[in-house]
Amino acid sequence: MTAGCESAAGYDVIVAGYGGAGAAAAIAAHDAGARVLVLEKAPVGGGSTAESGGSFATVLDRDGAIEHYLAITEGRTPREVPGLDVAWMCIMRSFGFVMVDASASRFLAEPTVEHHAAGHALLVRDFRTGEFTRLPSYLIFDDVTRRAGPIVTNEAGANRVLTWSESNLDEVGKGWIKRSDSVAGLARELSLPPNRLEDTVREYNRAAVDGGDEFGRSPAEMVPLREPPFYGIRIWPALFNTQGGPRRGAGGEVIGTDGMAVPGLFSAGELGSIWGSLYPGAGNVTEAVVFGRLAGRSAAA
Ligand SMILES: Cc1cc2nc3c(=O)[nH]c(=O)nc-3n(C[C@H](O)[C@H](O)[C@H](O)COP(=O)(O)OP(=O)(O)OC[C@H]3O[C@@H](n4cnc5c(N)ncnc54)[C@H](O)[C@@H]3O)c2cc1C
Repeated sequence: MTAGCESAAGYDVIVAGYGGAGAAAAIAAHDAGARVLVLEKAPVGGGSTAESGGSFATVLDRDGAIEHYLAITEGRTPREVPGLDVAWMCIMRSFGFVMVDASASRFLAEPTVEHHAAGHALLVRDFRTGEFTRLPSYLIFDDVTRRAGPIVTNEAGANRVLTWSESNLDEVGKGWIKRSDSVAGLARELSLPPNRLEDTVREYNRAAVDGGDEFGRSPAEMVPLREPPFYGIRIWPALFNTQGGPRRGAGGEVIGTDGMAVPGLFSAGELGSIWGSLYPGAGNVTEAVVFGRLAGRSAAA
């Protein structure tokens, strides 16, 4: 951002940030006849929009991202997150898997977890202890599922240049995925209660055969875990998406704490996102473009 106030004085509309929302706002304001200045802090514009593609976000600045995530979750996420420079979105290629919490118990119909909403499933406290018993959670699977393909997807975000092995065995070798010939042994590898994990897998396997479980997991999406070795991986929610910010009106005008529009100030995109904490997947880019255009037109009017 090199333009000073003096050089910005000849412009009708100043757009801060050249991501999807900023670009749409700048184009709309320009098309409405305004002289537009775009200020972008990054060497290359594009922002999150240039990274998007339907997957979990990933980060290059780990500490900054953790601070960001803590901030947007109002400090609800404990600091015990993995010391990784990247994050992958888990996606299972076979239905032979379960997800368990710190007590080695299942808590939902696993295939129904939509990845944007996964945080809502995992960011749950025990009301007696205040502990986050689902952070981390654990994906447990057998060798059939291991052989079905990589348990992650890497289609979007800054780490799409990185690889995850087709067989998942490189990640076993790195210690990211734990392996054991028995369910109890796997539990010990993951510091989970062995007896409880054995019970959980046994109950799940029985429900898979009997036609359903207490969580409403569809029988068609239940495949027993039978073939050793057994595998487990710790998982954390890691969606980097800012849903907070100032309220905005229908034309993109920023609404002040007095409920009145702040003259000359408009917002679009993630800043002040309309989605709140119940973000529906794929709504962000649409919002960036739609509100970018609205805000650009409003600013130029
Ligand atoms: C990996 C990934 C995948 C995603 N996939 C999807 C998807 O498939 N569908 C979907 O709808 N959403 C997706 N999202 C979310 C979506 O991409 C974003 O919500 C959306 O692009 C945000 O647009 P934006 O214009 O508000 O912000 P951005 O595109 O991030 O733009 C903000 C810009 O402002 C700049 N900036 C910041 N601070 C300053 C400053 N002080 N001065 C000047 N410039 C500044 C930044 O450098 C950046 O260029 C994804 C996000 C990620 C990270």
